[in-house]
Amino acid sequence: MIWSNTYEGISEAAEALRKGNLVALPTETVYGLGADALNPDAVAAVFRAKGRPADNPLIVHIADASEMEKYAYPNEWAYRLAEEFWPGPLTVILPKRDIIPSIVSAGLDSVALRCPAHPVARELIRVSGCPIAAPSANISGKPSGTTAEHVLHDFKERIAGVIDGGPCACGLESTVVSLLGDHPILLRPGFVTPEQIRQVIPSLTVAKAVVEELGKDEAILSPGLAHRHYAPSCETIGLIGSAENAAEYIASHATEGPYAVMCFDGEESFFCADRIVTYGHRGTPAEQGERLFDALRFLDEASVCRIYINAECGDGVGLAVYNRLLRSCGFRMIRV
Ligand code: AMP
Ligand code: MG
Repeated sequence: MIWSNTYEGISEAAEALRKGNLVALPTETVYGLGADALNPDAVAAVFRAKGRPADNPLIVHIADASEMEKYAYPNEWAYRLAEEFWPGPLTVILPKRDIIPSIVSAGLDSVALRCPAHPVARELIRVSGCPIAAPSANISGKPSGTTAEHVLHDFKERIAGVIDGGPCACGLESTVVSLLGDHPILLRPGFVTPEQIRQVIPSLTVAKAVVEELGKDEAILSPGLAHRHYAPSCETIGLIGSAENAAEYIASHATEGPYAVMCFDGEESFFCADRIVTYGHRGTPAEQGERLFDALRFLDEASVCRIYINAECGDGVGLAVYNRLLRSCGFRMIRV
C-alpha cells in the first residue's frame, strides 16, 4: 500500500499504526520503518521485518520536545540541544522511563529520542497519538531507504504500507549524541555536525568507532556501531584520493570479473567500468549525503564482483558521509 502524503493518507496510516501494524514514513533523514513505540508486539515486528539484531535499540520519534519528559529523564543539555536543533536530524540518548518497553531499547536503561522536522512524520505522530519507534527502512545491514520505492523494494507485503513523501532531503540518518553521564559523546555523525553541537556542549567528544574499526575487546558505546551496515552484497572498496589516482589503482588491481565504480559528478570519464554511478560533486558533502544510498542501491543491483568508491575525508557533514562509506566498505578504505 502506498499512501499519499495528504491528510487522508496520513490518517489511514495512523489508523494502521494504532492497530499495531508497521508503517513506513518519510523523514528528513531517511525513511523510517515505524511502529507504535508503546506496543511491544508491534516493535517486535519491526525487528523481524528488518532482520535487525535484538541488541540494536530503536529511536523513538516524538512530535514535540515537550514530550521528552514522558519517555525519558532529560537533563539540561537535552533541553538546550532540543531548543537549538529540534525539530531536526538530531537524536539524543537519555535515561529511559519505564513506559518505554524494554524491546525498544534492546534491554538498555536508556532511550534514543528524536523530534523529526519532516511535516508528514510529525503529523503521523500527532494524528496517531503514538510515539513512533522507527529504525531506517531497510533490511538490516543494507543501505538505508531514501525513497518510497526503496522501502517497497525491501519490504513489499511485510508492512501495512508506506507514506510517499518523495526523496529524503538529508539522505543520511540522524546525528546521535549520548547524554548519559557527565561526558556527552557523539555516537553517529549526521547533518547536525560536531562543530554545531559544540556551540552548545563544548566538551562533546566523538566516539572512536565513528571513523575507526573497533578491536574485539573495545567497549561498544552504541550497539549500532558494532554491526555491519550500509553494505552492498559484493566486495566494496573505498579509494581516497583524486579520480586519476583512483582510476590508476583500479586499473592495476581489478584483474578478474566485472566491477562497478561510484565516483564524483563530472569525474566519470576517468573510469572505465561495467557500471558507473555518481553521488554528487567532490567537496559537496550535503549533496553526496542526499544521493549516497540511492547510488549504493543502484550498484547493489548490478551483477558485478566488486564495487570501488572514490571517496574523500571531511569534517562537518563530510564526516557523516565518510562514516557511512567506511561501513559500506567494511573499513576497506585505501589512500591512493
Ligand atoms: P537506525 O534507527 O537504524 O538508524 O539506528 C539507530 C542508532 O541509534 C543505532 O546506531 C543504535 O545503536 C543507536 N541507539 C539507539 N538507542 C540507543 C541507546 N539507548 N544507546 C545507544 N545507542 C542507541
Ligand atoms: Mg539503520
